[in-house]
Parts: sequence; structure tokens; C-alpha cells
Amino acid sequence: MSSKGDNKDRQSDKALFVLREIEEETAQAPSSDKEAVPTTQKAHRIYPTDKGLDMAEEIAAGLNMEMNRKKTAQWATELLAHYYHDVAKVLGDDLCEGLTFEHLASRKLIAFSAHTHTGRALVSFDQQLDLWLFSLNVLIGIRAFWCLPKDQYAQTATLTQGVLATLEDPYLHEKIRPYLEPYITGYVKVLPVANCLVMAMSAFIICHEIAHHTLGHVGMKNDPQHEYDADKIAYAYLEKVCNAFDQLTYLKVSENMMAAPCLLMKYFDLTEQWSAKQQQRDAPFSSESHPPSFKRYQALEAAFSSRWSQEAVNLYEGFSGSLHELLVQLELNAR
Ligand SMILES: [Zn+2]
Repeated sequence: MSSKGDNKDRQSDKALFVLREIEEETAQAPSSDKEAVPTTQKAHRIYPTDKGLDMAEEIAAGLNMEMNRKKTAQWATELLAHYYHDVAKVLGDDLCEGLTFEHLASRKLIAFSAHTHTGRALVSFDQQLDLWLFSLNVLIGIRAFWCLPKDQYAQTATLTQGVLATLEDPYLHEKIRPYLEPYITGYVKVLPVANCLVMAMSAFIICHEIAHHTLGHVGMKNDPQHEYDADKIAYAYLEKVCNAFDQLTYLKVSENMMAAPCLLMKYFDLTEQWSAKQQQRDAPFSSESHPPSFKRYQALEAAFSSRWSQEAVNLYEGFSGSLHELLVQLELNAR
């Protein structure tokens, strides 16, 4: 699959998603950031390990890329902050002035917008959430592009369920890694696509949380309509990010990736259905604050799919087909 994002600058970026591990930071975050640190005593961040960097080098070689080990190690921890700064650069001061961005591995796979106790506007994005998205993109992508032998077809379904379970139990991440790694190193060709998708998905999540601030939702009573409204504005922000492709250093969202927000909602739909089944709940997903995710991708599709390039449509259909097959395999509702 071609993408205008395939330039040299981003080569190490592409490989680095696989190598990050969550470690406990013994030191407190710097005092200037104190407000943004969760209330837990210790902050967590994702750091690359030597083993992880070795693996990234192996992958880079498999993809015929050069890798700058030092740069990759640096980016591994700061990637989401770089993405946020690129989004803020595109959206400008009118929308982002006064916003604080927080990116820690909080062992809660969430992103949210809030006001701190001192009234600062905060956008928070858990680092492990984008690892979660990466793992799903790899597994769904492998199943989309390869005709897998029977045992791997079953294993990838089991592994996907393990990834879904990390939402409830984030510490499963470390248990799943050894099973996921052979798929990452064995199917390196899926990584550029998986990484471009996770980048677009992360950018959309950042835009969605900024949109909640723009629309004045933060601090208001929960309302599912807020989610549809924030999604729509976020999509428009993501289009601006896509149009600024050549000016941005880290956040490279090509027009081929513009269906990523719908795929993201499909992943959440898979998660909602799977966890309802685990808990043996027959009732459909219900939440006071959020509409069911299948309604959110339907709304996004209805509003924006006419603008997608043929490549974006092809990618969406490929990944959606793979997801559909997985839903059938897991005896969930394949919409
Ligand atoms: Zn929201």
C-alpha cells in the first residue's frame, strides 16, 4: 500500500511502537507538571528497553529501513506529546492556547478532557491506549492481508481477545507481549500500515478531546450528543492535520488514512460487544455519557465517507472485512 508518508524521516518512528514497555518512574514528575500528574504516588511512563530497541532494529532491517537507535529511544517516550504539539500547531492559538497536554502510562487506558483543580484546561491521553490501538491494528491487519494457517487464525483471535481484556486489566499487557511479538516480527510488512493507522487514530482522539474544550462540554452534564458533536469537529480538525502533512514533523496523517476514525469506533464496538458477552449481559451497551460506538462510526461514515480517497476506502474495506470475520468467529454481532 502506498502512502505519501513513506519518507525517510519517519523510518524510526514506524518501528518504535513495538518496543515500548511500561516502567515505573521512581522520581516524581517535574514540579512544573505537577498539576497534570494523576493523583497516584508514582508516575508511569513508557520507555524503550534494550531488548525492545534490538527488536526494532530487526524490524527496520526487515523493512529495509535505516534506524537511528538514539532518536528512536527518545521518541518512544515522547511520541504523543509530539503528536499533540503538531495538532496544536495546525489548529493554532485560538483553539489550543491555555490547553495542557498530559501523556502518562496511568494504567488506565483512557483519554479525556477535564479542568484541573486550578481551572487549567487539560487533555489527557494514556500512553498504553496507543499501544492497545497498535496491537489491534497489527492483528486485524495481519488477518486482513494474509491467508493464515488454521492454528494462527485461531491464535490471532485468542490474542485479540487478550488485547481487548487489557482495557479492564492493563497489567495483562506484559503477559500478552511474548505472544504478540512473533506476529510483529513475523509479519513486518503490516507495520507501516498499522503504524500510520494508529497515528491517525491517536490524532483523532487528541482532536476529539480538544473539541470537547472548544464546544464547552467540559464540566457540563453528560450528554451522548456531545460525543457526536465532538466527533464531527474532531474529524474537521483531522482534515486540517492531513492537509498540513508536509509541514508537520511527527504527525503524518495522509489522506489514505482518513477512514481511521471509523475504524477506531469499530474497535470500540468490538470491545463493547466482547465485554458484554464476557459478562453474559444480553442488554445492549448503555452509558449515560457515551452513545454505542457502532452509532458513532455510522454517523462519521454518513457525514464524511463521500470525501474519502479510493485508497482510504480500500483500506477501510479491508480492515472492516477482517473485523467482520473476527466478530463472526467470536460469535458476536457482525453488523
Ligand atoms: Zn468524548
